[in-house]
Amino acid sequence: MTHEEKDRIVQSVPQKGFFGHPKGLFTLFFTEFWERFSYYGMRAILLYYMYSEVKNGGLGMEESTALSIMAIYGSLVYMSGIIGGWIADRLLGSLQTVFTGGVLIMMGHIFLAFPFGKMGLFASMFLIIMGTGLLKPNVSNVVGDIYSETDNRRDSGFSIFYMGINLGAFISPLIVGTLGQKYNYHLGFSIAAIGMLLGLIVFAVTKRKNLGLAGTYVPNPLMPGEKKKVFSIIGISALVIIALVVVASVSGWLTIDGFITWVSILGIVIPIMYFIVMYRSPKTTSDERSRLLAYIPLFIGAMMFWAIQEQGSIILAQYADKRTQLDWAGIHIQSSWFQSLNPLFIVALAPVFAWLWVKLGNRQPSTPKKFAIGLLFTGLSFIVMIVPAYVNGTESLANPWWLVLSFFLVVIGELLLSPVGLSATTKLAPAAFSAQTMSLWFLSNASAQAINANIVKLYTPETEILYFGVIGAFSILLGLILFLLSPKLQKAMKGVR
Ligand code: GLU
Ligand code: ASP
Repeated sequence: MTHEEKDRIVQSVPQKGFFGHPKGLFTLFFTEFWERFSYYGMRAILLYYMYSEVKNGGLGMEESTALSIMAIYGSLVYMSGIIGGWIADRLLGSLQTVFTGGVLIMMGHIFLAFPFGKMGLFASMFLIIMGTGLLKPNVSNVVGDIYSETDNRRDSGFSIFYMGINLGAFISPLIVGTLGQKYNYHLGFSIAAIGMLLGLIVFAVTKRKNLGLAGTYVPNPLMPGEKKKVFSIIGISALVIIALVVVASVSGWLTIDGFITWVSILGIVIPIMYFIVMYRSPKTTSDERSRLLAYIPLFIGAMMFWAIQEQGSIILAQYADKRTQLDWAGIHIQSSWFQSLNPLFIVALAPVFAWLWVKLGNRQPSTPKKFAIGLLFTGLSFIVMIVPAYVNGTESLANPWWLVLSFFLVVIGELLLSPVGLSATTKLAPAAFSAQTMSLWFLSNASAQAINANIVKLYTPETEILYFGVIGAFSILLGLILFLLSPKLQKAMKGVR
């Protein structure tokens, strides 16, 4: 996009009207707020829905299978961002892609709102994977589009947007979780669907007035000659995949375990291919190559972080349900409520970190060091979970405060790593690949969860101490390595801090 085009877009967005920010931020904030409300509300009860007995309104699946499905689902939700990024960049532009994604997501929740059993579950997962891939990376990209390149409100705009994500994630387990667990899972899922509907309404009603031309451009449209070739490749691949799935299901090969193995392979192969393509591209300069190499250890660090963070809605969710004392101080705590702790701590502590970085100015740790410290806290969040079993055994129920402490620690890690990592990705990825930045960052989460799918099934009360201990220690070790490497990485980052 030329500078003139960029200027024209920024000028078309009313530059005031939402906490001193462009009005467009209102639209993006609430669209993402409601989308995350629906996603995290659904995730807060999905595990329980899968493994609860049929007589209790669940699907009666085996626990270890349900844990793996949660991880593989999470992985695909972020992996599909690659497709969503491509569609916006080359076919539809961001806004239309976001809207289409929102519709698919809402339909996905509707499939769970009815008692359709396992078929409903898999249909819903498919729709939400595709829908989130279309919506999430693109709604985030448009945030960048509404500010001019020199506007110093840009970073704080992203922070406000991040608050929207976490406010949505905070309130939904309390609403969807309570209704879903107390009354009926399908009722919970229907609230998630209504949440996404509200997001779509806000988006559709306010986008023209608030966003102007932002997100309406197709940045790198397919040329007419290319179109035919690309569409035939897509068509043929789709047919091959459908044929493979049909053959595999008929012949009994398509087991959940087999599927998990395939996605895990993709989770490793896709980022490697991404790095190779970026590294070898003639458009990548030699400084950019050096930055890219420095980015690889950070990407691995981010994977380690997400592997633990995402287990908050899998292993710690199961822990909340099965291993935790839920009647406390005269009230009955719903196990889904623990899912509100991460976003609650994010909302509470993000301003503290923002203040800290301003106060430290140039004395603040470099990006690799922030990652290293982040991994230390992330590891500790699992190490503390050893204590209840170590002290009282796994027969007696644990005090809920242990989970609170664990979520608190992981959030310290999250604030040192997640916003910092996203910003590092935008600075370290070669300029020619800037449209893929968001997808690249989400891949660190997708790959982590692809690996998680194989790990989470090893968790049982018998293996608990070993499980939390080994994974926690691994994160701390990785943090240490990153700390030692940080001067070298800093140098290879060629001026990026
Ligand atoms: N909690 C983050 C969100 O929902 C996770 C996405 C990421 O991998 O950055 O936005
Ligand atoms: N903190 C997560 C993210 O930023 C939300 C969550 O895990 O509930 O969006």
